[in-house]
Order: sequence, then C-alpha cells, then structure tokens
Amino acid sequence: MKIVFLGPPGVGKGTIADMILAKHPEITKLSTGDLFRENIQQGTPLGKKAQEYMNQGKLVPDELVIDMVKDKISGMDNFILDGFPRTVPQAESLGQIANIDKVINFIAKEEIILQRLGGRRTCPNCKAIFHVVNMPTKKEGICDNCGANIIQRDDDKEEAIKKRLVVYDQQTKPLINYYKEKNMLVDIDAAQPVRIDIAKDTAKAMDLSY
Ligand code: AMP
Repeated sequence: MKIVFLGPPGVGKGTIADMILAKHPEITKLSTGDLFRENIQQGTPLGKKAQEYMNQGKLVPDELVIDMVKDKISGMDNFILDGFPRTVPQAESLGQIANIDKVINFIAKEEIILQRLGGRRTCPNCKAIFHVVNMPTKKEGICDNCGANIIQRDDDKEEAIKKRLVVYDQQTKPLINYYKEKNMLVDIDAAQPVRIDIAKDTAKAMDLSY
C-alpha cells in the first residue's frame, strides 16, 4: 500500500497517520518535515540547507526533497507519505519512482487550521504531536510517550504559519486537480470534531480496518 496524505499544514495529516499506524504497524509513515528536522538536529549538510527555507515557512527546493525521498522509499512496499509531494514537479518525480495507490485529501476551513497550528506542540525526540487544547499532554510540557520536553516548532509561530498557508495555496493546492484528473483522489472531512471519526474515514478510504 502506497499512499499520499495531502492537505494544508495543520490539517492533521501527521496525527491521523500516527493513529492509523498504531493499529497497522506494517505501515511506515514517511514525513519529509520530520526527516528535515532530524537532519537539522544532527547538523547534516542537508539539514543546514533545509533550515534556512523552513524557518521562513518556504518550501525546500524540489531536488533536495526528491533525492531524500527516493533514498528512503526505494524497496518499501507499505508507506504513507506525509507532506510529500508538495509541488507538481515533486508529484511527477514520485510517479516515476513509485506506484501510488491513493491520495487522501484532508479538507478543513482555514480557521480550524489556524487554531490547530497555533496550539500544536511537538516532541523533538519521538516526534509525537500534541495540542494545548485538543490533545494536551498528561503532564504539562512533557511528552506522554517518551518524557522529553515538548516544544512549539519555530514554523508553527504566527508569521511562519501565514507564510506556509500562502505557500500551500500557491504550490501545493494544484496537486488536488493533478491527482483528481488521475482518479486517485479521495476527500476526507478533516474538520470533524472527533479525531477517531477522521481516522476511521481515512482507514476506510485506504481499505484498512480501524
Ligand atoms: P511539515 O512538517 O510537513 O509541515 O514540513 C515542515 C517544513 O519542511 C515545510 O514548511 C517545508 O519548509 C519543509 N518541507 C517538508 N516537506 C517538504 C516538501 N515535500 N517539499 C518542500 N519542502 C518541504
């Protein structure tokens, strides 16, 4: 199963992927954002290049992302791509390296996205995602999974959020039509108040039990 999760930043792609993975450990989530953040933490040359774009809420240049993804998915059969592709050239390259089964398109209004992004907190260690209101940690500031101090990502701060949403509209939204024309797109209502309902709809679209 080779699936793409498409949707604006903050719509909940990563959270829903984690919920599905918890029930289906045979699937791997590949988040290009997480991969870049790992590279930044480790101080790799790729991390150094990516950081300047990410801090400004801009996309990392296509060739850097495509090479990284190619490396990771070669030989993998069961994966969810979270945050890739984000441009038409990335989608075209992906089409050459993998047979994607479906593209799940997560939809929510901008006010919901802003609320989710502004309150999002992330564990820099295990990558778990929380929200100050919708999904608080049991102990304030501490990751439920691994006990590390959770943080607000620099690009989840207000100025970067605005920029990322503009970038989404300009560069990533065209992928909706790109995949619709290929009959690969399934829409999911990602604004439902109960997260499990979103996960169930997503699993169904992927022909998985939940
Ligand atoms: P994310 O965690 O998916 O929100 O990604 C965080 C940041 O990483 C984005 O704002 C981009 O700067 C960069 N990034 C992640 N995935 C991609 C991609 N497919 N293409 C270009 N930049 C990306």
